[in-house]
Amino acid sequence: MKLRNLLLSAFMLIALGSMAQLSPNVENDPSVRTGKLSNGLTYYIKQNNWPEHRVNFYIAQRVGSLQEEENQRGLAHFLEHMAFNGSEHYPGNGVIDYTRSIGVEFGRDLNAYTSVDQTVYNINDVPSTRVSAIDSCLLILKDWSNGLLLEDKEIDKERGVIHEEWRVRSSAQQRLLERNLETLYPGSKYGKRMPIGLMSVVDNFKYNELRDYYHKWYRPDNQAIIVVGDIDIDRTEAKIKELFNSIPAPAPDAAKVVDEPVPDNEEPIIVIDKDKEQMTNSIQVMFKHEPIPNQMKSTIMYTMQNYANSMAFNMLYKRLEEKSKEPDCPYIFAFVNDGTYLFSKTKDAFSITIMPKEGQTPQAIKIVTEEVLRAAQHGFTETEYARAQDEYNSSLETRYNNRNQVNNNTFGRQYCSHFLSQYPYPSIEWTYQTMKMIAPQIPLELINQAFVQLVPQDNSNLVIMNFCPENVELPTAQDLLTAINEARSEKLEAYVDNVKQEPLITTMPKAGKIVKETKNEKLGYTQYTLSNGANVFIKPTTFKDDDIQYYAESHGGSSLYGEKDWINYTMFSSVIGNCGLGNFTNSELKKALAGKNASVTPSLSRDYESFYGTSNKKDLETLFQLNYLYFTAINKDEKAVKSELSKLETFLKNKDAMPQMVFSDSLTNTLYNHDPRCRSVNSELIKDIDIDRVIQIAKERVANAADFTFYFVGSFDEATIKPLIEQYIASLPSQKGKKEEFGDIPQYAKGKILNEFSRKMQTPQVTSRIIWHTDAIPYTIENDIIAEFTQAVLRTMLLEKVREDEGAAYSPSGSASISFSGNKVITQAGVSCNYNPEKKDVVLGIMREALKDIANGNFSDDILVKTKEKLVKDYETGLKDNDYWTSVISYYIDHNIDYISNYKKIVNKVTKDQICNFAKQLLNNGNCIEVTMVPEQ
Ligand SMILES: [Zn+2]
Repeated sequence: MKLRNLLLSAFMLIALGSMAQLSPNVENDPSVRTGKLSNGLTYYIKQNNWPEHRVNFYIAQRVGSLQEEENQRGLAHFLEHMAFNGSEHYPGNGVIDYTRSIGVEFGRDLNAYTSVDQTVYNINDVPSTRVSAIDSCLLILKDWSNGLLLEDKEIDKERGVIHEEWRVRSSAQQRLLERNLETLYPGSKYGKRMPIGLMSVVDNFKYNELRDYYHKWYRPDNQAIIVVGDIDIDRTEAKIKELFNSIPAPAPDAAKVVDEPVPDNEEPIIVIDKDKEQMTNSIQVMFKHEPIPNQMKSTIMYTMQNYANSMAFNMLYKRLEEKSKEPDCPYIFAFVNDGTYLFSKTKDAFSITIMPKEGQTPQAIKIVTEEVLRAAQHGFTETEYARAQDEYNSSLETRYNNRNQVNNNTFGRQYCSHFLSQYPYPSIEWTYQTMKMIAPQIPLELINQAFVQLVPQDNSNLVIMNFCPENVELPTAQDLLTAINEARSEKLEAYVDNVKQEPLITTMPKAGKIVKETKNEKLGYTQYTLSNGANVFIKPTTFKDDDIQYYAESHGGSSLYGEKDWINYTMFSSVIGNCGLGNFTNSELKKALAGKNASVTPSLSRDYESFYGTSNKKDLETLFQLNYLYFTAINKDEKAVKSELSKLETFLKNKDAMPQMVFSDSLTNTLYNHDPRCRSVNSELIKDIDIDRVIQIAKERVANAADFTFYFVGSFDEATIKPLIEQYIASLPSQKGKKEEFGDIPQYAKGKILNEFSRKMQTPQVTSRIIWHTDAIPYTIENDIIAEFTQAVLRTMLLEKVREDEGAAYSPSGSASISFSGNKVITQAGVSCNYNPEKKDVVLGIMREALKDIANGNFSDDILVKTKEKLVKDYETGLKDNDYWTSVISYYIDHNIDYISNYKKIVNKVTKDQICNFAKQLLNNGNCIEVTMVPEQ
């Protein structure tokens, strides 16, 4: 701690010298109403109007798996599940049923998590127009706080669900961490408290062992209630007092939540392990140290320290990224940070994380450590610092400009972390003003000094963790230590920052003209037809104060290329995304764009070539310039592309080690009848890529701007955007009057197909997916909405039958959709599940019958009512969203389908018969594909 205090006082000198008026503490947002009831319960209430008429509710608890006894391992998490299985005012599935009736979806809006030291529940996006909904949600929080029923039969039903959750989560990474945890945390409870716990406990614990945990730890003094959204603060506070005051205060001798220490280690702890299903090699080199004391977290000094650290880590990350583009670099990616040691809040660590290339683990450690030491010895450069400052300022400005459109969850999570970890929650106004004042006063020397203090001087308290795929030769512990020590003894040169000081576009293109302007009143957009034949659709909005969305598309895509170009168009994004633009290489471009809030991403799908982009108002012109360059001047950056391809090669090498990867490849192959254009990429095939050919394809795709439609939605005005459109879009090369059509697009296999195969697995589980499809249903807005209802029914049905009744799976899921594939329309419904092999017959039976059950009307009308609530709520949220409008307008232009005008009316008119009929049409068509992967005996 000594070194760190020294550093803080250096900051303090600056702070005192230039900002004597500043308080030494961060000011928490004064608009948040907080308080503590006499029983010890804390609350936070914040009024927030974005989105309108929505509220989020949270209950945060300062307890988790660390509070478990040996016979309770896994019960903190088990308890979290029981919160949805019966409470005083919401018996049975009452919580899920009630919230669904107000448009809140289990999993998406209604959820919870359990970690080692905290358990947090949330109910999000509750409509606030009905006061009764707010009161009911507060009552749910109260039930969670002290009204869980924890009935015998409900507990028994949940054992299977949790066992299945363990099965799904039992990945190679999880197994590796779990079996080494005690070595990583010698002499600490952290080594024995993975929240998922022991299945021997989950399957067999006595009811009272769970109830004991609940009554011992779920107490008002360990809990906080958080309400954020479109609510009346006074009324909400009064209601909280009324409801929660009746909860008794803990007894004076009630157990205290005490911090679990993590002892220091003199000798390095080195864990090197492998797993048959591990796909990639990963290394973490960690130097443990004491964390910042809680009482310091609310000081300005700590804010400044954080700022300095984040600047340094950002600059270092950029150096490591630049280096990774060199062909002989021994790692795929690497980054360095300072924070929690694994998951213990009582110990921090300076951590280096690396994904090395095959067989180059020690080399990767050495070279990354050298970069850390190089920065410590020689410091960062002025040009790097200027870019890091630009980036920081740009994101601060954007946050500030959009300060009136912060979503409820951002606020809610802030108050959770204040309650759980004592982090302050300043208002954006406060942060903006303070950082605008402080940040520019911090010179580079100070950032460099701060970094030197962070970098560990020796190998004390060192922990190295190296998890590998099965087939690699493991390094020895000594190899890894030697790599670090060799880096320490190397004489290092200072880093040279190569920057290109010129504008993105040196000679401006000859601007074109807007030749025609048409307004569409119904959807509120304006269409410009340009002199080069391109069409631009704009919709200025006020949903967010500083946010612009861009999208462009044209028919064609990879469907216009034959099978021999398969690998070239399949790897389009990896190649084009790593090229440069204009006179800039990829890395020069990244540096030139630092601090600019503008991006454009090209992509190539089976039926379209398209561009996505976003920017703020200030950098809108940069977005236009990037787009112009993608259309006219892709700069082949062979070095960067080759480095990307070699990374992919390493990454894909052990792809088939993961059973889920094998399943997904097999599913695609079956689904597309082994069409070679749909096969998956592997590390061998990457070698066949012809970079020049990919660039040629990219050029062909954008050769005719007249064949594109361009969309801009967001916080701009017409006067600003018009000249930009004329300068950068009307000037794009085009062949007026020429339109491309879709080529031959891969189609789903017809008929009934069954593919069952087995595979060796570390944790046996069955994976099944069934898809019914047809091309006989026309794409209409009604059918799209009916598909949504069908999906809701499928999901509810599977959740009830497979999870709740059988306890055979953790997250069975259902889907239904209607979509375009070129000019064809494909309608599909599907069910999928990872489950217990012992229950294969019963689960498969339920899955196979699912669509038939819908066709026969075997579902309650209740789902209809609830789905209507949800769809209308989502639609209303969408109406205030730039992204949503971008897709609405582009769908209207491309397919003449209007998602706005009658949407609500159509949703409210949907009948049970329509859903049954939809399912019947899918069934009658006779196309059903079923793929199942079982564990090899
Ligand atoms: Zn769970």
